[in-house]
Amino acid sequence: MPGPFPMPRWRHLAARLRALVPSDCPLCAGRSRGGMLCAACEDAVCWTARTSPGLGLPWRCARCALPLPEHDTACPDCAGQVPAFTRTIIAFDYAPPADALVLQLKNGRRYGRADLLGNLLAEAVRHQARPLEPGTVLVPIPSSYASLRRRGFNPAAEIARALGRDLALPVRHDLLRRSREQAKQSGLGRLGRREAVRGLYACAPRAGGLRIGLVDDVMTTGSTLHAAAAALRMAGAASVVALAVARTPGQFPAGSRARPRAECRD
Ligand SMILES: [Zn+2]
Ligand SMILES: [Zn+2]
Repeated sequence: MPGPFPMPRWRHLAARLRALVPSDCPLCAGRSRGGMLCAACEDAVCWTARTSPGLGLPWRCARCALPLPEHDTACPDCAGQVPAFTRTIIAFDYAPPADALVLQLKNGRRYGRADLLGNLLAEAVRHQARPLEPGTVLVPIPSSYASLRRRGFNPAAEIARALGRDLALPVRHDLLRRSREQAKQSGLGRLGRREAVRGLYACAPRAGGLRIGLVDDVMTTGSTLHAAAAALRMAGAASVVALAVARTPGQFPAGSRARPRAECRD
């Protein structure tokens, strides 16, 4: 079933043709293909999410992928509320320069970036020691109506479409819906975000027994993905894995430089 405001089919055909065409790397303008990153930029941007922790990299929370300074550090994003998803796969940390790729899709209407971000997330899935379970169904986080009206599309849905095409997994837009509109989360702290999204999503009973890959563009504290995963589990989903293109590193960034937690406008 198509999602609200889906991109037209010709855009997907165009994406396949574009993959063959020489292009400039979106980050360094070096030689690339199909609007994808060049190999050097892909390595630079994605290596912290693809390489095992301990090899010169910070540890990550096994459940939400937040970078942690030591393997036994308590995860501040999971403390007090164990997420309803079992683990998180990310393509890169939400930090410069790669955060620009997300913003170009979300706020700059560069639709081709959905293919790029979906491809990077698919590569992250392929790099996992534990692959997604067979029969996994992809479910994008639904946009608010205000965001849909503003953008005309749901970035998470377009990333899920590209990811599904790349991994040959089905995408379901009919399982999860918003139960209400909600105020913006930007500017809210961890607890404020948890409260703001409590009960925000409702899930159809037909999710019962399914293994879900829950797709979002940016994971800030994990509150949104938790609320959606909780609704899916309440409806009987067998398991939920969070699949986010980018993870805000928070207090313990995966790079060497401490940064404040970046905000991404919903
Ligand atoms: Zn490049
Ligand atoms: Zn965590």
